[in-house]
Amino acid sequence: MKRSGTLRIFASYYKPHLKLFVLDMVCALCICAVDLLFPVVSRYAMQSLLPGRLFGAFFAVMAALAGAYVLKSVFYYVVTYWGHLLGVRMEADIRRDLFSHMQQLSFSFYDKNRTGQLMSRVTGDLFEITELAHHGPEDLFISAVTILGAFAIMLTIQWQLALVVFAVIPLFLLFTTLSRRRMMSASTAVKEKLSGINGEVESSLSGMRTAKAFANEAAESRKFAAANDEFRGAKRGYYRTMARYIAGMEFFMGFLPVVVIAVGGGLIMAGRMDFIDLTTFTLYVTTFITPVRKLSAFVEQYMQGMAGFKRFVELMRVEPDIKDAPDAVELKDVRGDILVDDVTFRYDAEPVLEHVTLHVRPGETVAVVGPSGGGKSTLCQLIPRFYDVTDGRVLVDGQDVRTLTQHSLRGQIGIVQQDVFLFAGTIYDNIRYGRPDATEAEIVEAARRAEIYDDILAMPDGFQTQVGERGVMLSGGQKQRVSIARIFLKNPPILILDEATSALDSVTEARIQSAFDDLARGRTTLIIAHRLSTIRSASRIVVIDGCSIREEGTHEELLALGGEYAQLYEAQKSVSV
Ligand code: ADP
Repeated sequence: MKRSGTLRIFASYYKPHLKLFVLDMVCALCICAVDLLFPVVSRYAMQSLLPGRLFGAFFAVMAALAGAYVLKSVFYYVVTYWGHLLGVRMEADIRRDLFSHMQQLSFSFYDKNRTGQLMSRVTGDLFEITELAHHGPEDLFISAVTILGAFAIMLTIQWQLALVVFAVIPLFLLFTTLSRRRMMSASTAVKEKLSGINGEVESSLSGMRTAKAFANEAAESRKFAAANDEFRGAKRGYYRTMARYIAGMEFFMGFLPVVVIAVGGGLIMAGRMDFIDLTTFTLYVTTFITPVRKLSAFVEQYMQGMAGFKRFVELMRVEPDIKDAPDAVELKDVRGDILVDDVTFRYDAEPVLEHVTLHVRPGETVAVVGPSGGGKSTLCQLIPRFYDVTDGRVLVDGQDVRTLTQHSLRGQIGIVQQDVFLFAGTIYDNIRYGRPDATEAEIVEAARRAEIYDDILAMPDGFQTQVGERGVMLSGGQKQRVSIARIFLKNPPILILDEATSALDSVTEARIQSAFDDLARGRTTLIIAHRLSTIRSASRIVVIDGCSIREEGTHEELLALGGEYAQLYEAQKSVSV
């Protein structure tokens, strides 16, 4: 996104919907015209037609005015319906841009930002933005045209009275704006206190057993009473502000006509205007109330909407750390040769890997072992370029991953993560995720090879069973096998398997192992291994600890070495026996 002003970016979202915007504005203008013409046309009818007893013409003008109000309601329909539609379309565009931008952002962004928090903020912001997008220009336009138009007409009728009225309007506007702002902060305070009370209730109720066990109910009650008092106080404050606002509005609404009649009466007595002019003025004064309210609503809406839009723009300006180089090439016809070449990597200040070199030949299976936090997952994440190395390079088939397109690189790598994510939907769709154009027969075959087929058949709706929050909760072992099935479908030449550390029963473990073995056949495979069975089936084992590779060799070689691996192996054997 270009580094132009927030307001300009906001305006740019109107561009694709310019026709709708113009329609909205034209109808808003027509609404203003009807409101502005009514008093002045009535004045003409009363002043020019009534004295001559031209009843026919008089009623014709009145009928025309009635017709104008029918039209005004049509314009209101258009403004309300199409105007909202404009807001909805802009919201959809903003959402679309945001979503596609968020998809571009790198792992490092999601490491730093909590997704839930981000989404709820964006949802709240989008609501305010849409409100501003739709109501903003219209409110501003209608209010400005009505107030200025009325002022101009009133000036031509009786300029002194017009000036008196317009001396009061800014006061009215100031009062409304300030009151609304106070109401807003009072309502925020109420919301805060309410969430305080809810937190108190939740913590008290979930800690009820503890409170009872310590016979501490009285202290809990006191804490609750304090939160309840604060909430009551905040509500009282809110209603006091609201009462002041309503009282003030009522005052201005009554005060303006009184001023008009008082000053106008004086002017009539001085022979500078007549009764009909005074009536016209009174009518104009009543048309002000709505625009003034709208104008102050606009100020509020603008502040909220723009604050939200600014946050949106900030998010859109976050550049992804990992981007395809301008001359990036496609990775094709992969043999599956991986070389981690003297790599140093750090997430923040501390290095996680230092001068690590590892060569995995095509078709080879290498197990990576070592204590938790040693850097095994990190090493594996560098191959699909989820992060860029701090120093050194990662090569696939002799090509630096930074020179390849991310899409083609990741298309050649299958990753089974420890913590498998299943999307809301059926188990069928979740397997198909591996290759969206796979046939049903291929999906069933993948499920069989991943050893999950029997489990699926035992589920209430078989492949059509819903998974996740509103469906069947799959066990960790089942989830891993679903993700293995995905990889069978994807059929990549390079595999990265992150074994689940959680304890599995021996049957599940054997099934996962057999699925892993089947999957690894003929592919270059890197396994983050926790289990003896997996470790032993690897052709080579590397031990990573404290940022670097400590040992490397076959199972037998490393046992003979009697080092870290041998200790790890002995420890596991004694547990699993
Ligand atoms: P292992 O897979 O061997 O358990 P990891 O590669 O997950 O080790 O972690 C290595 C180190 O890097 C740990 O100290 C961990 O806290 C840190 N680390 C892992 N992921 C991140 C991350 N996304 N951001 C910052 N630090 C991380």
